[in-house]
Amino acid sequence: GAHEDAPLAQARIDLAAISANVARLREAAGSAETMAVVKADGYGHGIVPSARAALAGGATWLGAARIHEALTLRASGITNRIRIMAWLLAPGDDWAAAVAADIELSAGAIWAVEAAEKAARAAGRPCLLHLKADTGMGRGGATSAEWPALLEAAARAEATRHIRVVGIWSHLADADAPGHPVADTQVENFRAAVAMARKAGLRPEVLHLANSAATLKLPRTHFDLVRPGIAVFGLSPVPETADAAALGLRPAMTLSARLISVKRVPAGQGVSYGHRYRTPRRTTLGVVPLGYADGIPRHASDTGPVLAAGERRTVAGTVCMDQFVVDLGDAPAEVGDEVVLFGPGDHGEPGAEDWARAAGTIGYEIVTRVGDRVPRVYT
Ligand code: PLP
Repeated sequence: GAHEDAPLAQARIDLAAISANVARLREAAGSAETMAVVKADGYGHGIVPSARAALAGGATWLGAARIHEALTLRASGITNRIRIMAWLLAPGDDWAAAVAADIELSAGAIWAVEAAEKAARAAGRPCLLHLKADTGMGRGGATSAEWPALLEAAARAEATRHIRVVGIWSHLADADAPGHPVADTQVENFRAAVAMARKAGLRPEVLHLANSAATLKLPRTHFDLVRPGIAVFGLSPVPETADAAALGLRPAMTLSARLISVKRVPAGQGVSYGHRYRTPRRTTLGVVPLGYADGIPRHASDTGPVLAAGERRTVAGTVCMDQFVVDLGDAPAEVGDEVVLFGPGDHGEPGAEDWARAAGTIGYEIVTRVGDRVPRVYT
């Protein structure tokens, strides 16, 4: 094989692409600042290298989902503002450790305001808090009926000086849908929530609402800070209407592996569990050492695309836990040859979005699920 020194499988991460994607998002964001959302291990790209690349591209904030993610960023020496999303903070989490590390928290319910205040007392420093309004997503955050009581609780907590309400935010349910019918209502509800907060005596200076799709497509949602995630990593947030290139983005991850078995088989050979693929003629079968335990969706059995032996081919038969098979036809191939599952497309390889379509899911799930057994190699 041509790549004997390369790992068996690897996810190459193009950090320059992450920086360039953030620069592109910054341009779209106009005067708003940019929080790069790097939760879920940087959408599978590695949280710390991704965060550094995003900051190099002009992001000034980082967004995390869990306390340990935010602490990992702090421990790496990053001093930028870091915020954790509201509904992912659980009652039993060590919020005090987050406050002590100068991590900003979110609260969409009174219990969370109280927990933040308690954490600030324990940490011996004020907690910077972002109040979350549910403006229509129907997930976390205070509904319009709950909002006045949340504001009251927040104002009371501010009076103790343990809490400072620095932000108000919400999340869009359909920024990626053509026409964005719900987004307009959400913007209206958001403005109303902010107006009520000011009336309640709060002085939030950072209003934020926009994810990737809204950063790129809905300037009226930008406010003071945009929170793109998927676009930082170069995948389109609106794959049905615009691919990454059309949006000026470049996919940062290339997932590849080396063939671990190559053999000739006769016509009619059943392949992998259940024999759902049968060779139509005498052919060469190659085995790729990546499976559903590595995040390769089993739903992409028979359909997942790869670039192998010079051509686009598909998974032959069922994706197994640690491997899958590709029918290589009569192409020359040997053990050690590289197979590319997805990447930016420079060499004709599929994109993560093609895998998403093959598996009936979204690109987000494809990249975030690439497992721990696959080393990330940074370029
Ligand atoms: N903001 C919040 C609250 C989120 O939960 C997410 C991701 O789920 C994002 C921003 C980033 O979204 P996207 O990856 O679509 O840009």
